[in-house]
Amino acid sequence: MTALAEVLKRQIAATGPLTLADYMTACLMHPDHGYYTTRDPLGAAGDFTTAPEISQMFGELLGLCLAQGWLDQGAPDPFTLAELGPGRGTLMADVLRATRAVPGFQDAAEIHLVEASPTLRKEQAKRLSDHHAHWHDTVDTLPDAPLFLIANEFFDALPIRQFTRHGNGWRECVVGLAEGRLAPGLTDTAPQDVVRHRLEDTRDGDIVETCAPAQGIAATLGARIARFGGAALLIDYGDWRSKGDTLQALENHAPADPFAHPGQADLTAHVDFEAIACAAAPARHSRLTPQGVFLERLGIVRRAQALAGNLSGAALQSHITAHRRLTHPSEMGSLFKILALFPEGASPPPGLDT
Ligand code: SAH
Repeated sequence: MTALAEVLKRQIAATGPLTLADYMTACLMHPDHGYYTTRDPLGAAGDFTTAPEISQMFGELLGLCLAQGWLDQGAPDPFTLAELGPGRGTLMADVLRATRAVPGFQDAAEIHLVEASPTLRKEQAKRLSDHHAHWHDTVDTLPDAPLFLIANEFFDALPIRQFTRHGNGWRECVVGLAEGRLAPGLTDTAPQDVVRHRLEDTRDGDIVETCAPAQGIAATLGARIARFGGAALLIDYGDWRSKGDTLQALENHAPADPFAHPGQADLTAHVDFEAIACAAAPARHSRLTPQGVFLERLGIVRRAQALAGNLSGAALQSHITAHRRLTHPSEMGSLFKILALFPEGASPPPGLDT
């Protein structure tokens, strides 16, 4: 039994079941026992790995894509270069290395990082020690300036609510107690405003998920990009419209029961990109594009060949494996997708269309 399980059991006994969103928030961000607040979960020794940790090519290509977007919008100076949920700071470090050669880009850039975890903020500060960065708890305090932003595997960590259709109403998934253990259950049927529009495309028993924080963040980003200019590259796993139960837990790189060890496992859910794109209006959005297609359009094959020229033996093998992992449809190439936000009147960033 984890310390957080004890805390949550006492809370449920006192005040009743938690929504899945409250449960996820506690598991991921509880100040003393939260998964992200207490550890660095990335890499071979952690629970999962991410595209920037797999290969430097990911951050390099994203950085050049953002820099081209900046040039295409007239190279505004100054501008905000931001990242949401920067993990170990690897992606931003690769972006900064790759864009060194773009005249004026780094001189005009002010680096802003939105990160909730004190543990990961320390990692980011170490990794980016050659640069002057500012940290934020939320997107609300980002400066009023053109905003060029990346977010990789950020939105999937935000808390969801989950509803199962029953007639013309919905039963919400909540976390309660069963035989002294934390267990998921369903509320009685009730109408639910947040998923009323899903009565159109669901049948009895279908599950839909909502993520209010994702929509709130997308609305803030969209409003800033529409007003000041800029672009956001949002990469995550998910699809255009959420359907089904996508909550998952990962512990030591293996799937786990999301309710067994609260605070010890990473909890994520697929991202509903349609909800993000709608919330980001009046900013425009690109077509949702598979990661593999996007990286290939940006020239990953040529970059991979150039890097391979300096490698041999095991290092070459692991470089080839990393390239495949990022792009192949049976690995991350199709599951992960990219959505860009950009202002009316600008073209979408390179590699994307509308
Ligand atoms: N982008 C990194 C890390 C992904 S893990 C990579 O690709 O490697 C998710 C990141 O989002 C972590 O840095 C985590 O601490 C941060 N995060 C999760 N929820 C957050 C929230 N509500 N506010 C700010 N940061 C959050």
